[in-house]
Formats: sequence, structure tokens, C-alpha cells
Amino acid sequence: MNFQHSPMVLELCERLRAFMTEHVYPLESAWFEHGRSEARWEPLPWMEDLKRKAREAGLWNLWRPKSNGGILTNLEYAPLCEIMGRVHWAMEVFNCSSPDTGNMDLILKFGLPEHQTRWALPLLQGSIRSAFLMTEPDQASSDATNIQCRVERDGDDYVLNGRKCWAAGAGDSRCKVLVVMGKSDPDHPDRHKQHSILLVPSDSPGVRVTRPLPVFGYEDPPQGASEVELTNVRVPQEALLLGPGRGFEIAQNRLGPGRLHHCMRLVGKAERAIEAMCDRAMARTTFGKPLSQRTVTLERIAESRIAVDAARWMVLHAAWKLDVGGNKEARKEIAMIKVMAANTACKVIDWAIQVHGSYGLSNDFALAHAYGYARTQRIADGPDEIHRNQIGKLELDARAKSQQK
Ligand SMILES: Cc1cc2nc3c(=O)[nH]c(=O)nc-3n(C[C@H](O)[C@H](O)[C@H](O)COP(=O)(O)OP(=O)(O)OC[C@H]3O[C@@H](n4cnc5c(N)ncnc54)[C@H](O)[C@@H]3O)c2cc1C
Repeated sequence: MNFQHSPMVLELCERLRAFMTEHVYPLESAWFEHGRSEARWEPLPWMEDLKRKAREAGLWNLWRPKSNGGILTNLEYAPLCEIMGRVHWAMEVFNCSSPDTGNMDLILKFGLPEHQTRWALPLLQGSIRSAFLMTEPDQASSDATNIQCRVERDGDDYVLNGRKCWAAGAGDSRCKVLVVMGKSDPDHPDRHKQHSILLVPSDSPGVRVTRPLPVFGYEDPPQGASEVELTNVRVPQEALLLGPGRGFEIAQNRLGPGRLHHCMRLVGKAERAIEAMCDRAMARTTFGKPLSQRTVTLERIAESRIAVDAARWMVLHAAWKLDVGGNKEARKEIAMIKVMAANTACKVIDWAIQVHGSYGLSNDFALAHAYGYARTQRIADGPDEIHRNQIGKLELDARAKSQQK
């Protein structure tokens, strides 16, 4: 394996960095203000202009893998996603936000021709947004076989009833399609064949976004997560993707790259925290010495550099594995980096907060918000424990197989 980025990727990175410097970083404090305003669930006032500029600059839909109509491999996308991930809302500027990327990938792979026209195309153009509704308030949803939202056949239609939560983007006024996982065959003997995935227009009668769910007090509008009620929501049978009972097959396909993209962003956030840690340590003096000369600070900067570089290499390795072998082959590497990137980012951002003193906890340095994102990633898309269990089991399997030889 060779992780030397190609001239094309290096050139894209340079262009992306310049774009971030010119258009994105200057708006960071305005983003926090928008999040506190009455209009916070409306699109960011500058977003459409920046999206147009990103499109013109050829920095659009870079997430889309070569294997599904894009121009980059996952490995090539990694350094670009890291750069975008440095600013929480920047992903949308380049049409690379979750959950839209995963939803687009899924519709492109499994949708009917009419789904491509109605949903995939406008999503790729950035003219609408989407949400993914799997988690439920009344079920331990890290085991997705627990999902209870009912999907029942009624003539030519399906009718959905259930409560969903933590649906990122569902409260955005531009969210037009909900990708919903529900139980279509509760009696199927195989628990992994009881669920289906459907595409539900968000303005269907019976869909109600009931409340936003903040993380450490941050609602993250308009992209933040919400609770959603589905009451007798009726969709035509064509809305069900791939066939009844194939929800897990589809969800698995979606989760691998989605998890990896979060890890790329986490590396970006952690890298930025190191920069902030260094800047503050050099600028602040206590008891006659700059903080940068305290051994504890040097230790933390050094440990952060070691951990972030290690995480970055593991991201690249997992991305390469995904490119060459697909989701199943890369499942151990993705699980490993999912645990490592989130925990590394939490630790590094926490140290950056510490060196900033009280202001580290405010919005002035965006560290508190970045910590919330990193902490979320230890739970969302599968909590740490589940990924560690999986890694442990795969290790034991490999050991057992090697002993049989
Ligand atoms: C900001 C944010 C955005 C999100 N976006 C979405 C979204 O867009 N769509 C969506 O569907 N969901 C989304 N989620 C939900 C997220 O994926 C779930 O919360 C997550 O899968 C865990 O499910 P749960 O909360 O029901 O935890 P539970 O299943 O109740 O688990 C609780 C805890 O139990 C422990 N645990 C669970 N299983 C095991 C085990 N086998 N061994 C040991 N310990 C275990 C873990 O510590 C876990 O944290 C989001 C969450 C957040 C915070």
C-alpha cells in the first residue's frame, strides 16, 4: 500500500485549504450567532452563495466514491474530508454532509429510476436535504434488530407507525426525504430479515418533527438532530428499497463509509485542537513562564501529535481496505479507527480546552462544540463497546483459524 497522495489530490487539498481560508473560517463566529437566532432552523444565510462558489471551484460532491460514479477513492477523499471537517458546518458547503452522503450513496445504489430523479439528483445538486431515521427513543438502538417502527402492507401502499429520535437534519426546512428503517416482518425467524428501508417524503401526512435534541446544549441548527413521530404515514409500495426484509443489508452498506467519514472529520478537528493548544500555550504566561514552557503542556502537545498522526494513518489504512476489499473486508479496520479517532479527538480537544482555561469552554475557540461532536462519535453509529466487541471477536476468530492450520 502506498499512502503518498497523487498530484491531483494534493492540488485539490491546496484548493480546498484556500477556499476554507477565504470563505469558511471568517464565518465561524457568525455560525454560532445563527445558532442562537430565531431563524436558526432556516438555512445559513451565506450557504447558497458558498455552495455555488464551491461548485464553481470544482470542490463539489468529493465524497462520492469512484465505485459509485465519483472521481475519488475513499483513500483519496480522506485528506479532503479532514480539511472540511475542521469546521463543523463546512461539509455542507461542499455537499459532503452526513447523513446526505450516506443517503445519496444508498439511493444511487438501491433506488429505482424514479428515486434517482426525485431524490438522488436534487441531493447531488444540493437543492434538497435528507435524514436517516433508524434510532428510536424506546429501544436500545445500538442493537438495530430492536427497531420497532411498524411497516405494514395495506393494498398497494405501506403504512408506517413509530417514534424516531436523533435524526440529524430532519428539522431542516430543506429536508425533503426521510430514509426510514422499520419492521416489516416481525415473525421472520431471522432477526436480520425483519426490517426494511423506505424512502418517505418528509411532507407526508403523519410525519411530525416533535423537538430538537441538543448535544451538550448545542442544537446545531439547521443540521442538528430531532425526534420524529410517524403516525399512519402512507407511501406507495415502490418506496420500499430492494425488497421487504433487506433493511440490514442496505444499512450495513451505508454505515462503513459513513463511519469512516466521521473519523476523517475527527482527525481534522483534533489537528485543529493541537494548533489551538500550541497558539494558546505560546501566548499565555503564568507565574513568570509561558504555558508552552511547562512540562505538562509539552507532554500534552507531544502525546496529541503522536495520537493524531496514528489516527490519521489508521484512517488511511481503513479507507484503503474499504477501497480494495469493500465493507466486509474492512469491518475490523473501520471498527478500530471508529474507536480510536473518537477517543483521540476527545482527549486532544479536552487538553486544548484545559490550556485555554475558562475561555476554552466558551464559543470563542469552538473547542467546546468540537468536544461535543467528538464525544457524540463515541456513541453514534455504534457505541465504542460494540466496536471493541467486534474487534475482539474478529481477533479470536483469526487466532482460532490460525491454530487449525
Ligand atoms: C448527534 C447525534 C446524531 C445522530 N444521528 C443519527 C441519525 O441521523 N440517525 C439515526 O438513526 N441515529 C442517529 N443517532 C443515534 C445514535 O446512532 C444512537 O444513539 C446509537 O446508535 C446508540 O443507540 P442508543 O442511544 O439507543 O443507545 P443504547 O442502545 O441504549 O446503548 C446505551 C449504551 O449501552 C452500552 N452498550 C450497548 N450495547 C453494548 C454491548 N453490546 N456491550 C457493552 N455495552 C453496550 C453503550 O455504552 C451504549 O452507549 C445520532 C446520535 C447523536 C448523539
